[in-house]
Amino acid sequence: MDRHLHPAVIQGEDTITYAQLDRRAGHLAAGLAGLGLAAGDRVALCAPNSVEWLYVYFAALKLGATAVTLSNQLSAQELSLLAGHARPKAVYADPAHYPVLEALRETAGISWIIGAGGDHEPAALMPAASEPLGAVERERDHTACVLYTGGTTGTPKGVMLSHENINTAIHNVVRMEGSNENDRVLCFLPFNHVFGQMHIMNATVLSAGCLVLLPGYNQDEALEAVARHGVTKLYAVPTVYVRLLQLSDLKARLGKVRYCFSAAASLAREHVLRWREATGLAIHEAYGMTETASMVTFNHHRRHLVGSVGEPVGTTEVSIRDAGGLALPTGQSGEICIRGRNVMQGYLDNPSDTRDLFYGDWLRSGDVGYLDQDGYLFIVDRLKEMIITGGENVYPREVEEVIFQWRQIAECSVIGLPDPEYGERVVAVCVPTPGESIDALELRAFLKTKLSGYKVPKEFVIKNDLPKSPAGKMLKREIKKDLIE
Ligand code: ATP
Ligand code: MG
Repeated sequence: MDRHLHPAVIQGEDTITYAQLDRRAGHLAAGLAGLGLAAGDRVALCAPNSVEWLYVYFAALKLGATAVTLSNQLSAQELSLLAGHARPKAVYADPAHYPVLEALRETAGISWIIGAGGDHEPAALMPAASEPLGAVERERDHTACVLYTGGTTGTPKGVMLSHENINTAIHNVVRMEGSNENDRVLCFLPFNHVFGQMHIMNATVLSAGCLVLLPGYNQDEALEAVARHGVTKLYAVPTVYVRLLQLSDLKARLGKVRYCFSAAASLAREHVLRWREATGLAIHEAYGMTETASMVTFNHHRRHLVGSVGEPVGTTEVSIRDAGGLALPTGQSGEICIRGRNVMQGYLDNPSDTRDLFYGDWLRSGDVGYLDQDGYLFIVDRLKEMIITGGENVYPREVEEVIFQWRQIAECSVIGLPDPEYGERVVAVCVPTPGESIDALELRAFLKTKLSGYKVPKEFVIKNDLPKSPAGKMLKREIKKDLIE
């Protein structure tokens, strides 16, 4: 089929072809240029996933502007901080954010608020009679996008990604996954985040696949869309897989899905195995960061190794380093460092943090891991999450992996809490599987058979739910704060 007539996006009852997506983005680019926006300006987006979001994003890129993508779930204070930092000339936003943006107009230099009831509505800026604007030529190292990091460990950082960074990253995705125009991709992960924007949206557009768009994650709606639109690819974060695993008719509900992918946080081995048992499908895992424009390593079809995040993709290189920045031998754990054309240009307006993040041209990930003999990467945990208890180091992920073998547990987060005797004590915060209860004594006895004594949690806290970031990651700092207060 001619690519132009091919569906690019399905949203509710609407199907938008590639020709329509391109024309509407071109019309909007012309409208924005008419307001005075030009190459080099920043256009921020702070709204839920929608086809309109895509028109604004591609219009900004066609203009040669920089698209700054912000989470729609930011609090007023966070939005004020990030928009104040990014200083966009125009902001496309959900009306709920207008009061914050209005207050920032002068200090952040915001000239236009775009959206329903704002200074201009996107539809009014794209009169069909006007000529759509073609894409302005930009240099490879022009900053195409600024994405803020997940905010899992603190205030999100603005990551500057060039056209070259993005091109490298999304071509890697398409090549490694064999993406093509027959793909029907379920898309509920937020477009502002690297996973939703680069790995899912841009790579699908590059390969002319079809995005089945949902404004956010709701299990029933997601499964209904899977059935109704013949979704073939499922991209999700671990917490979504864990919830889906609770369905007794999972295999039938997945319909035509033939490819499952997880990234952004650690996926327990136990869940990969249960998924395969229930559906017959592998979950392909990748490791990446906002700072690397999407994946660094990928556990692909040719050699799928459960528990690993796979091998480096394309020309991306991985090196494991010690605390002094020296390379460590195969098999030894250290900080995962990354080099390649997908590695960011730096943090926006933050040269000192950018400098601290590199050993020469190697980006320090802040994650601990090791490479096996075949160059497959295994993630141990984030450096920041390491617990020191009675002088011993404990990486929460190792403990969580074992806890997940206990069938009564749906979600779990292992953290270190301040302790007068041990410095920190290991605490497991668990959510039971629906209809089950957790017997802490039995669980502790089980863990003692699997882990060294100092790694076994001293305390088990049972909760109904655990806080997650907008990108779907467990927010350990919130869990800790809640228990310390
Ligand atoms: P912030 O940097 O603001 O604290 P963040 O690190 O969560 O937030 P992202 O760039 O979204 O922001 O996430 C990258 C991080 O996610 C990686 O550094 C790593 O810790 C984690 N991660 C990504 N993929 C995986 C994976 N497959 N397994 C385990 N962890 C992963
Ligand atoms: Mg990070």
